[in-house]
Amino acid sequence: MEKFKLTDHKKSDEESPERRNFVRDIVEEDLKTDKFGGMVHTRFPPEPNGYLHIGHAKSICLNFGLARDYKGLCNLRFDDTNPTKEESEYVESIKLDVRWLGFDWGDREYYASDYFDQLYEFALTLVRKGKAYVCDLTGDEIRQYRGTLTEPGKDSPYRNRSVDENLDLFQRMRKGEFPNGSRTLRAKIDMGSPNINMRDPVLYRILHATHHRTGDAWCIYPMYDWAHGQSDSIEKITHSVCTLEFADHRPLYDWFLDELGIYHSKQIEFARLNLTYTVMSKRRLLLLVEEGLVKGWDDPRMPTISGLRRRGYSPESIRLFADRIGVGRSESTSDVALLEDCVRDDLNRRAPRVMAVHRPVKLVLENYPEGVVEELEAVNNPEDHSAGSRTIPFSKILYIEQDDFRENPPKKYFRLSPGMEVRLRYAYIIKCTEVIKDKATGQILELRCTYDPETRSGSPQSARKVKGTIHWVSAAHAKDAEVRLYDRLFTVENPGGDDWRSFLNPHSFEQVQGCKVEPGLATAKAGERFQFERLGYFCVDEDSAGEKLVFNRTVTLRDTWAKMEKATDKT
Ligand code: ATP
Ligand code: MG
Repeated sequence: MEKFKLTDHKKSDEESPERRNFVRDIVEEDLKTDKFGGMVHTRFPPEPNGYLHIGHAKSICLNFGLARDYKGLCNLRFDDTNPTKEESEYVESIKLDVRWLGFDWGDREYYASDYFDQLYEFALTLVRKGKAYVCDLTGDEIRQYRGTLTEPGKDSPYRNRSVDENLDLFQRMRKGEFPNGSRTLRAKIDMGSPNINMRDPVLYRILHATHHRTGDAWCIYPMYDWAHGQSDSIEKITHSVCTLEFADHRPLYDWFLDELGIYHSKQIEFARLNLTYTVMSKRRLLLLVEEGLVKGWDDPRMPTISGLRRRGYSPESIRLFADRIGVGRSESTSDVALLEDCVRDDLNRRAPRVMAVHRPVKLVLENYPEGVVEELEAVNNPEDHSAGSRTIPFSKILYIEQDDFRENPPKKYFRLSPGMEVRLRYAYIIKCTEVIKDKATGQILELRCTYDPETRSGSPQSARKVKGTIHWVSAAHAKDAEVRLYDRLFTVENPGGDDWRSFLNPHSFEQVQGCKVEPGLATAKAGERFQFERLGYFCVDEDSAGEKLVFNRTVTLRDTWAKMEKATDKT
């Protein structure tokens, strides 16, 4: 497996709709030869059995991107053929996520279940042609008869039923005369085919179950392979783009369409997205939710679109990621650091800067007048001058970060320490004169400092330089906040195997209470994103209400993991 490294990608690239890939090459060739009458019509076909994840985003960007760039259309089609695992909740979440990513399917919201009648008619056509039969083998027996990769399969004893008998039995299956699992409808292809998918695949199974859309109208349900290609055909999809594991299904896809003699879409397979430090299978994501290992589908540690959204990712950053990883034909795993870099690049351009103190320690400016409040000007975004500036209150009592003070500083520590000077961002140079501690515990209660009134930022005399600048908030004006710090959900790059849960990162979530943020944030709305200066990108969580402010850390300012890896390399 090849692996993308950050260095494989130019940092400066923007989302570029024209970026080439082999799917685009095929589409352009088909446009040139007029294969589909000059049309490009794709679809995104999720099964509504879970929430969408970042892998689906790759497929969404590809399918909707093709339609956008070649002036075509892209349908949203729910592949809802399995009533036992599918729910309307998932349908709604999928629609929300696709829209949020910035794509629009217009009025083309389709469901495989809309085609159940038509698919049933197609099946009757195959039965009448002698190309499908009702089989009474159990599921286990079908598997035994199927053979293996190295051994051919065996014909089912029911394979040579007459067309009339098959028609009669299939119609009675549909009417509900037989119990679950007692019979199937199978295509009659070739049990000796080297491709297992061609060994008389099952088209319909009996399942007396209520479907989220068709209710109890059906007790036979089409299998994925049977539903998928025919749904593409019904919708006149030109290019049916799917992931590589379906390459071996393509002969079957083509066989069905050829035997039925209906519109023939072209299936194209691309490599699915795999990402380090996470799991992407919907089955595993569901287990994480069901077993309470995360707080839900939208837990900010999840690789789901809803999780990334809650974490603070922007749709732009996810589209940028899809663009940077590209679309290829060989399996690969992308480094999650690349995704993190995309959100940094995007938010660096757009997120307003604010000051917030995670773990506050009180700082008193002894020579600053009591009761005075200065409104200091602060730049909202140095990357975007149109974002303007704001004022922040400054007064005698402040909070700074505990981490920004060391009583016994190591060499090259440029933050605050006894007798040393530091600049307060947008404010003055201060000097620490005294440390007040709890006598019993030794804990630092308060830092006593003096400020140099000649050094106010932006003033003509502010030229005096010191090595360090730290952030702060005014104690009387700051708002309380809770900050939720997230880290990778797993401790290893590829949490595979049966014991994948044992690789869960016990430190993937940390809740920090008692944070202090600048007063302007009191009115921030859920979903709004900020850069907390020196700390990272944060967004307002939906748990914020009234006075209660909750922030999620989207990503740190730099790739701290890379830094740590480098540090451990040295030892
Ligand atoms: P499953 O079939 O196991 O439920 P799935 O991940 O294939 O899960 P679907 O809902 O069938 O889920 O996927 C919808 C579309 O998204 C399919 O076209 C599929 O190929 C694509 N897709 C799913 N996972 C990825 C991925 N990791 N990378 C790229 N595309 C993906
Ligand atoms: Mg699937």
